Amino acid sequence: MQIRTTRNEHPVAEDRLAEILADPGFGKHFTDHMFTVEWTPDAGWHDARIEPYGPISLDPATAVLHYAQETFEGMKAYRHADGSVWSFRPEENAKRMVRSSHRLALPVLEVEDFIAAVDELVRVDERWVPTTTEPGTGEKSLYVRPFMFASEKFLGVRPSQHVTFMVIASPAGSYFKGGVKPVTLWLTEEYTRAGRGGMGAAKTGGNYASSLVAQQQAIAQGCDQVVFLDSQEGRYVEELGGMNMYFVYDDGRIVTPATGTILEGITRASIIELAGKLGHQVEERRFSIDEWREGVTSGAIREIFACGTAAVVTPVGGLRWDGGEVPAPPETELTMKVRQALVDVQFGRAEDTFGWLH
Ligand code: PMP
Repeated sequence: MQIRTTRNEHPVAEDRLAEILADPGFGKHFTDHMFTVEWTPDAGWHDARIEPYGPISLDPATAVLHYAQETFEGMKAYRHADGSVWSFRPEENAKRMVRSSHRLALPVLEVEDFIAAVDELVRVDERWVPTTTEPGTGEKSLYVRPFMFASEKFLGVRPSQHVTFMVIASPAGSYFKGGVKPVTLWLTEEYTRAGRGGMGAAKTGGNYASSLVAQQQAIAQGCDQVVFLDSQEGRYVEELGGMNMYFVYDDGRIVTPATGTILEGITRASIIELAGKLGHQVEERRFSIDEWREGVTSGAIREIFACGTAAVVTPVGGLRWDGGEVPAPPETELTMKVRQALVDVQFGRAEDTFGWLH
């Protein structure tokens, strides 16, 4: 893929950038450039370019605005102590976007083109990758958001004949400002996020649109995040709105839900490998809400954690639903060990034994 670059002639000034990177928050500030490539059935992917970041103009009849034919990804670039910049398993994000795109009847963007687009944007906007000065207190990174959408001007339900893939990037502060603390969860019995044959395994906007009202209820109930159960039996734990889950037993077993309808996280997959190396056996299987309740009540479940690109790993505290609750499990030892191991690889403070850095 040939990428044409047009430099931004009015990049954010150095002193303003320093201010932003001192406290970037999440998803609020965007870098000086963006990547775009377009697709049509005849020409394939063409006109790959990096341009100054800015608004894009869309016809009101653009298909994605009506039928939500789109997919996206979320990943990060990290600055190491020697100043070098690395991304974490970008080929996994690329492969997941291919799977999502199949489900959404979008064209395939080859893994190498996805990675080239991300690499080139990060290279052009390298000064936006924050430096983490105090390891452990607030890891900062550059969040990278690739996305693909139906850009044909056409009202009608069929796959778009014009598709746009873009990459934008945004500096991200620490997910946990006052230190890592357990998230409390609200179990929704009213809403599900994915059905059999649906698009639960795809990273597509519709799944997030459908999760908002449940997340709103969780907040109204004084909880941090919502937990979804399977839609058929309403018994099996799926995932949170934006994170996968892990349950740690006193005999060293670790269970992570697998139902075919969850978004399989790259953090989740990395933890399966890491836990194996730490001597734990990971079971990927259906995990019922009764096992959760009984496991915590009996003391067999020692820890529960959630994981995803944004938070890496976070301990899970108590679970509540309409008319009941399960208290927080007693420990967070393995949770914090797994968290530290991942963060240390990402920031180049531990040897990358799995070859995860790019
Ligand atoms: N589940 C959902 C629904 C998500 O949005 C995410 C975030 N992408 C995850 C799980 C975790 O995935 P990853 O580890 O790849 O960030």
